[in-house]
Amino acid sequence: MNHATRRSIVSFAVVLALAAGSAAAQAPKLAPVPEPAKPRITILATGGTIAGAQPKPGEAGYKSGSFSVDALIQAVPGIRDLATVSGEQIANIGSQNMNDAVWIKLARRVNELQGSAEVDGIVITHGTDTMEETGYFLDLVVKGEKPVVLVGSMRPATAISADGPMNLYNATAVAADRIARGRGVLVVMNDEIHYARETTKTNSTSLQTFASPNRGLAGIVNFGKARFYSPPVPKHTSGSAFAGSVPNALPTVFIVYAHANVGKEEVDAALAAGAKGIVLAGVGDGNATDPMIDALAAAAKKGVVVVRSSRVGSGTVARNVELDDDKLGFVAALELNPQKARVLLQQALSKTKDVKAIQKYFEEY
Ligand code: ASP
Repeated sequence: MNHATRRSIVSFAVVLALAAGSAAAQAPKLAPVPEPAKPRITILATGGTIAGAQPKPGEAGYKSGSFSVDALIQAVPGIRDLATVSGEQIANIGSQNMNDAVWIKLARRVNELQGSAEVDGIVITHGTDTMEETGYFLDLVVKGEKPVVLVGSMRPATAISADGPMNLYNATAVAADRIARGRGVLVVMNDEIHYARETTKTNSTSLQTFASPNRGLAGIVNFGKARFYSPPVPKHTSGSAFAGSVPNALPTVFIVYAHANVGKEEVDAALAAGAKGIVLAGVGDGNATDPMIDALAAAAKKGVVVVRSSRVGSGTVARNVELDDDKLGFVAALELNPQKARVLLQQALSKTKDVKAIQKYFEEY
């Protein structure tokens, strides 16, 4: 290095040092921000059996959504060792009564919390009946990487061996775990972690009711220690084209159910009620009787988007296998069961009515 080059490097360093010094002199003196000692988890309560009370302990009957979020948190020993938890009551209903208004309120609040510097993860207590639908809806519309974990229980809070407290403990532990970030919306029940997109309720009474029949478990969680197996492949949350602002209303989409000897009545009723989309809970590979398929094809011709799914509970309904979807103007739901196909179709209809574009959404989400 010659003398001139060395001199110009030295003067450049002097300029930088002076600039840094004057910037430091101008910077306001801020107290150092302490790293939060514990993850901060917000628990949003919506009701369900996890908040349910029996009129007579020991009996099967109970009322969903009887306890407040604070009572649920109080019932979990050790939860405050896992995280700094705060609770908010979004609703207090049985999830059989879940509706668009609660979905929209919940999704907007989750999106706000995603953007808050005060929160590291979100837990949602929810009834198990429609947990998979709410979970998949949030998976599509929530923007952010922070864990969002839905949890419920099969036994009411007053039951012998109620499963709610351990489920809530585990859900909070998963939401507090950095490894759960960026995985989309999760469901924690009975020591298992499921991707909301994959999971479905499979048993009307058993504690072991959630399964992810097509792609398997997201992971397991035992006494608050989570282990994940594999990342989710379909698009979700931050990568979702539907994520971010949540509209004031969702398009009307009905599910029609196929069975032996089914006619066109359900399709007629859906059209009369203003359906913008119809999902077929078909037999087998998304099939139905000729009268029902003919009615659906006529609806598709009129611009109602028809998605073929299956009532079977697992497997894939692919295009053009037993039915000619190209000719009939249908979309194939692929892996999505009817209730989840309905959720995606609502979001897809907010963007387009084009059948090819909607089929692409079903391939990607
Ligand atoms: N019917 C209840 C609900 O979905 C069942 C449950 O939570 O397990 O709210």
